[in-house]
Amino acid sequence: MTITRWVLADQLGEHFHEDAAHLVIIEAKDLFRKTRYHRQKAHLVLSAMRHLAAERPESATYIRADTFAEGLATIDGPLEVVAPHSRSATAVVQLVQEHGRDLSVLPARGFITSETEFQSWVAERGKRRLLLEDWYRSVRVSHEILIEDGEPAGGRWNFDEDNRQPPPRGAVTLGLPEPWLPVEDDIDRQVRQDLDAWESEGIEFFGADGPRMFPITPDEARRALADFVEHRLPKFGPYEDALLSEDWLMAHSGLSVPMNLGVLHPREVVRTAEEAWSKGLVPIASVEGFIRQILGWREYIWHLYWHFGPLYVDSSNVLSADEPLPQWFSDAKSEDVTAHCLSWALEQVHDKGWTHHIVRLMILGNWALQRGYDPAEMTRWFQRTFVDGYPWVMAANTVGMALFADGGQMSTKPYASGGSYINKMTNLCSGCRYKPTVRVGSDACPFTAGYWNFLHVNQERLSGNHRMSMAYAGLRKLADRDALIVQEAERGNSAP
Ligand SMILES: Cc1cc2nc3c(=O)[nH]c(=O)nc-3n(C[C@H](O)[C@H](O)[C@H](O)COP(=O)(O)OP(=O)(O)OC[C@H]3O[C@@H](n4cnc5c(N)ncnc54)[C@H](O)[C@@H]3O)c2cc1C
Ligand code: SF4
Repeated sequence: MTITRWVLADQLGEHFHEDAAHLVIIEAKDLFRKTRYHRQKAHLVLSAMRHLAAERPESATYIRADTFAEGLATIDGPLEVVAPHSRSATAVVQLVQEHGRDLSVLPARGFITSETEFQSWVAERGKRRLLLEDWYRSVRVSHEILIEDGEPAGGRWNFDEDNRQPPPRGAVTLGLPEPWLPVEDDIDRQVRQDLDAWESEGIEFFGADGPRMFPITPDEARRALADFVEHRLPKFGPYEDALLSEDWLMAHSGLSVPMNLGVLHPREVVRTAEEAWSKGLVPIASVEGFIRQILGWREYIWHLYWHFGPLYVDSSNVLSADEPLPQWFSDAKSEDVTAHCLSWALEQVHDKGWTHHIVRLMILGNWALQRGYDPAEMTRWFQRTFVDGYPWVMAANTVGMALFADGGQMSTKPYASGGSYINKMTNLCSGCRYKPTVRVGSDACPFTAGYWNFLHVNQERLSGNHRMSMAYAGLRKLADRDALIVQEAERGNSAP
């Protein structure tokens, strides 16, 4: 008897189904009733699922139902599914099994490294803390990526000295060619109509609708990858931490969407980038910086999601951050915000459901950290408003990297920074009503004031961290500390 492969919404590439004779793909509408997703995220996911069904008309059954259980009830015979990428989807699979359905679970796919490889690396470390850098080096060696004669290509593991430069002075874009963007087809038009109909029935979405900006089929994803490698990868390293107001993508790849939908295997991305370097088309600093993001960060964050356990998001809050997200922030009302950098970032979230990494970390995450936003709430906000947001990738990035709520399991110190750093890495301060160097008064930059206030509020918890000693030495010398604390208490949760 044929076993039908149940293909989940983030398992849509060939590597998830090419060995299956028959597929079932279920569009469960109830999920959109329960969570207010970005409209463009709903579009991307539905369009991707429907495109896969259209690519296999003879062997894929596409079901529109309220729930997965309702959809599965219409399929006869045994089922199998590749291990889901979240605890909630795993629970759904278990429930289906408990109800007596013959449903087997296949090992996880879609990542370069296996859980066994991660667990043996953890075991080898013994009592030493987990470090991304060590994980990344070990995977470079075990998978022979950017390795020559057993040594790191280019003679170094890390090219941070060449990378992470401020943006070119006076520029508003990097001046790179326009990125490849998909052209919408009839399936997209149908998705848009259906989402309009859902909205009129009362299902609510967040943010603006807009033309589809990210690849959702393997073919589109490969075109976007080739375009990135040719035009933007060479500049990835130097400008990976920079931000320019008229350049939404900078030298980034925009490939998180197809990789997280499972239509593009990260191994293919890494190998394509490595090949471009071996042909002399891309400098080692850029290719190493880029591969580090995927082989290092992406794989690490995936394993940490399971390693940190089910309570990580809801129970990590060492800074006792319990401010609810204010409405102007959670609804991304950029027009309510005067601080140019934050207003700009919220506008990107509203209009695209996507920003590049440094916007997530240096502006949105930094603001939430300084203002003590609740880490679990912030994680859920990122997850529903970002088109590439999924539980596995949001947990450690938000709770650990951006908010330091796990007390240092992910990062050795909080990623808090003031306006001077934002001014160094972006062109946003020149268009701002505030001044990045001013702490107190009507011109005070809310990020600069917020940085010092954050140090003050968390003094007992953080001053013992030796990586914060310079920061606390600075705080002790602040002549206007008392005035700053009063000013920030008065600001409260209002839009800056
Ligand atoms: C607060 C916060 C929230 C984030 N939320 C998400 C998210 O929902 N989904 C998501 O895929 N990434 C998330 N990231 C990581 C990173 O910001 C995005 O992967 C990246 O911005 C996606 O754009 P890109 O494809 O152009 O990336 P590039 O800069 O081109 O990097 C290439 C790839 O590396 C991977 N990568 C890079 N950094 C990370 C990281 N820290 N964690 C995991 N993968 C990484 C991504 O797959 C990305 O596509 C988050 C980071 C922070 C600080
Ligand atoms: S001055 Fe401050 S608030 Fe204004 S853009 Fe710069 S960092 Fe942001």
